[in-house]
Amino acid sequence: MIPTKGYAAASATSPLRPFEFKRRDPKEHDVVIDIKYCGICHSDIHMVRSEWHQTKYPIVPGHEIAGIVKSIGSKVTKFKVGDHVGVGCFVDSCRRCENCKNHLEQYCLQGLILTYNSVEADGKTITQGGYSNNIVVDENYVLRIPNSLPLDQAAPLMCAGITLYSPLRHWQAGSKKNVGIIGLGGLGHMGVQIAAALGAKVTVFSHTDKKRDDALKLGATDFISTQDKTVFQKHAKQFDLIINTVSAPIDMDAYLGLLKLDGTFVAVGLPEKPLSISPGSLITMRRSYAGSVIGSIKENQEMLDFCAKHKLAPIVEVITPDQINEAYERVVKSDVRYRFVIDVQNI
Ligand code: NAP
Ligand code: ZN
Ligand code: ZN
Repeated sequence: MIPTKGYAAASATSPLRPFEFKRRDPKEHDVVIDIKYCGICHSDIHMVRSEWHQTKYPIVPGHEIAGIVKSIGSKVTKFKVGDHVGVGCFVDSCRRCENCKNHLEQYCLQGLILTYNSVEADGKTITQGGYSNNIVVDENYVLRIPNSLPLDQAAPLMCAGITLYSPLRHWQAGSKKNVGIIGLGGLGHMGVQIAAALGAKVTVFSHTDKKRDDALKLGATDFISTQDKTVFQKHAKQFDLIINTVSAPIDMDAYLGLLKLDGTFVAVGLPEKPLSISPGSLITMRRSYAGSVIGSIKENQEMLDFCAKHKLAPIVEVITPDQINEAYERVVKSDVRYRFVIDVQNI
């Protein structure tokens, strides 16, 4: 077993503290990764605080992992020692179901093995995430980070990047498309950059006016503060696609009214409580309400190469592990520009 140092929460109300545990010995197809950086996703906070009511403690969160290959199993062909690699939200899947076979592992019918808070393929070990100094992952679930992307900036692409790339591609954001992104946080600020690079006209909807300049610099053509409720009438029936990244409840009917005929509203934010919709908001313009979760390994790799090609990267604030709890408070208050990334190499 490989000794590992990390940061874990012991309960929904306790802060994250130093925690030592062990990773499995690498098998033939495993890659041992020295983790250098791990992003703080709002999902980590939802999970640590048991807001989705499924958390197993102690929990070492973290699924925006960037590091360097330390060693490889005897049958590994995709990676070599020293490669820059990433690990996202899942570390295995059944590999046999229809969705796995179609490169859509994120929708695995047997259940995905998430990077943390899941049960490993051995049926007993609880997976622990990237707020730690190493991880052992099957090569088929490891991503290659292009050398032009610095590891601290690459880390948040493993979740924030792919979670927006996947729906933007699926619903064909591109030239002549009017795309709205609700919430300029970790996910949202990657969504703006990717949608703009795909050629779409991008509008950011934000709950204050504070992020206007940043949104425009990131590639948005328009920025709308929703403090002024008249914006919902002013921009009614204008958008082809709206992606909601907000971690809190929003007025769904107001936003649905912004969609054109046949427009689609995609949920990616996962607030603790259900959101209500009046059917009339969908019926009147044949609108669709959809959802999307992260992306597949193939799509993840495509997204990393796309970001490298278009020189897109998250704006990060690198912190030390002892600042994690303070960072959580700041994320919840939307006081982060735009992703905290933990320097875990000297944990
Ligand atoms: P984040 O960095 O905290 O960003 C969320 C943004 O939502 C904030 O920056 C803020 O943007 C807006 N917001 C926050 N509180 C609000 C409130 N009370 N009212 C209105 N707007 C508010 O979070 P994130 O890491 O991007 O994650 C966002 C959500 O996506 C979380 O729920 C997370 O669990 C979920 N998620 C889903 C997937 C998936 O696969 N579907 C993957 C990763 C994360 P403004 O200041 O611009 O309004
Ligand atoms: Zn995430
Ligand atoms: Zn499967």
